[in-house]
Amino acid sequence: MNCSEVRTFLHGYVDSELDLVRHLEIEDHLGTCDACSQIYRAQVVLRSALKSDELYFTAPAHLERQVRMAAQRTERKPWLPRLLTREWIGAAAAAAVVLALAVLVGPMLSRPTLTERTAQDIVSAHIRSLMPGHLTDVPSSQNHTVRPWFAGKLDFSPPVADLSAEGFELVGGRLDYAADRPVAALVYRKGGHLINLFVWPSESTRESAEAAEVRQGYDLLFWTRGKTDFWAISDLNATELRQFADLVRARLS
Ligand SMILES: [Zn+2]
Repeated sequence: MNCSEVRTFLHGYVDSELDLVRHLEIEDHLGTCDACSQIYRAQVVLRSALKSDELYFTAPAHLERQVRMAAQRTERKPWLPRLLTREWIGAAAAAAVVLALAVLVGPMLSRPTLTERTAQDIVSAHIRSLMPGHLTDVPSSQNHTVRPWFAGKLDFSPPVADLSAEGFELVGGRLDYAADRPVAALVYRKGGHLINLFVWPSESTRESAEAAEVRQGYDLLFWTRGKTDFWAISDLNATELRQFADLVRARLS
């Protein structure tokens, strides 16, 4: 099954309505496709939220009394304005449900995913690093100086590639914070452009191909390799940043 077929059947899958073969096919696909499993998880969250008791309200006694009285009045005096007809009450109740759903489900739908939040963290950390005095904790162009500097400061040892021969000069490293954890930031320079390469142990054991996006004018690249997450960000052009990422991958594999 491809992604679009999987997404067509995802509702049925979430509700366990599919036949066994199709169910297993989708399960297989979700095991290997991050994009579809993200959509799947969002649907599971939405489904359980819609089932939650918090969405069902019992009308308080006084409200029920008022509604019943209003309905009776309408029955006795048919010339009363249409405001109090049963249809209107029904419509008002429906509108109230829609409003409750919008209030409860709206924020959930717009809550950023982990990667989305991480991308924001990366942009913030990058911009912060460009402020005076924030770029490096260990200014050095020597990877054998930068790498050991992290020892004892992080619970992992970030790989530091020497790419000076290819025109990407190591400027140094620093401790930073992204994705809810301390991370290593390695700083490179190409011409007048700085590149921050954020590195930390991945929670996924799967290797991932490179994902690219542009955010607040910066190019971002994300990939997972050797149980390590890499985020590169720069105002360098996209082609050269991709070249940088290729070199990092090649050097560290
Ligand atoms: Zn897919």
